[in-house]
Amino acid sequence: MFGLIGHSTSFEEARIKARSLGYDEYADGDLDMWCAAPPQLVEEVTVTSATGKTIRGAYIDSVFVPEMLRRFKTAKRKVLKAMELAQKSGIDITALGGFTSIIFEDLNLLREERVSAVQLDWQRFTTGNTHTAWVICRQVEINAPRLGMDLATAKVAVVGASGDIGSAVCRWLQRRGVGDLLLVARRPQPLVDLQESLGSGRILPLDQALSEADVVVWVASLPQSLQIDTATLRKPCLMIDGGYPKNLDSRAAAEGVHVLKGGIVEFWQDIGWQMMEVAEMARPQRQMFACFAEAMLLDFEDIHTNFSWGRNNITLEAMDLIGAASLRHGFSALALDSDQAPESADPTAAPALASA
Ligand code: NDP
Repeated sequence: MFGLIGHSTSFEEARIKARSLGYDEYADGDLDMWCAAPPQLVEEVTVTSATGKTIRGAYIDSVFVPEMLRRFKTAKRKVLKAMELAQKSGIDITALGGFTSIIFEDLNLLREERVSAVQLDWQRFTTGNTHTAWVICRQVEINAPRLGMDLATAKVAVVGASGDIGSAVCRWLQRRGVGDLLLVARRPQPLVDLQESLGSGRILPLDQALSEADVVVWVASLPQSLQIDTATLRKPCLMIDGGYPKNLDSRAAAEGVHVLKGGIVEFWQDIGWQMMEVAEMARPQRQMFACFAEAMLLDFEDIHTNFSWGRNNITLEAMDLIGAASLRHGFSALALDSDQAPESADPTAAPALASA
């Protein structure tokens, strides 16, 4: 059985959802009341792979909302209690979605093995970052040529290059071969370490990288205040919005700038669940975050272990493995189309990305 731990995108949206589910007490409650609320297992589903294999899953709402991010103790408790509920519900492998994996890593929750009387078993959880990184790479590879770009000569900037997902994306791009790899983050030393390990790449400030890049992969949670001067961008420019929350489309709106939601996949058939309605997916019956899909893939493949764990541990081999499983079970990466349709509706038409 797979599990997904998620949360609403805002307090306001969470209250609307609570009202629609008949939880009027919560809908009328203030943030303090929500801070004290326990996690909820809100939905169970059955999912059938393109191979015909069927698995069961559950969605747990951590009852966390981004407005709680500065309340460290609350944020920590929300994540750990949701993990405890997943484990107590007998779920074999659960993905930490949205801010939950960031809270887990940033607040170093690995130290917090015991929640109430329950000893958390880390093997039952995955950040889903390996699949997210692979999907983002696939989105670059498929969509750059659609804009007339040859990746072999293109300049690709990775904003958040020294992060868990960003460093994996850089390793993949370096193996694939791109014209120039531009490495962006705030702290210099992790970038220097990455550059050394890659044996290539140029470290640049954000503004300079943006003005040079044909493709920009965003894998950082960016401050609301960040402004992008679209006049300085190359045209065409492909922007993969892989961070969370996804809010680049309004900031980078300009002729010739193509923003694609990064790290989103579409399943080969409707799933019959409600959980993605809150995530503002264009097709919530099929689309989901790639990190969530990783838990499904691991369950389809009977890999019940913390496949993605810790920071900067993602290997190319693991990306190839999860990527091949993704295609086999009927997932496709969101592609550049007017309505952000998937790259291919046919799950069996699976080009061998691993060989790229
Ligand atoms: P990490 O914390 O490991 O990495 C974040 C990276 O971003 C670091 O390199 C960090 O370096 C950099 N960074 C942070 N703030 C800025 C900034 N203002 N300007 C430039 N660089 C910055 O995070 P992950 O790799 O785990 O996740 C990256 C993003 O992907 C997150 O936003 C996460 O929510 C999102 N995500 C999306 C998924 C999906 O859509 N399917 C699934 C999983 C994650 P430094 O601190 O030195 O600046």
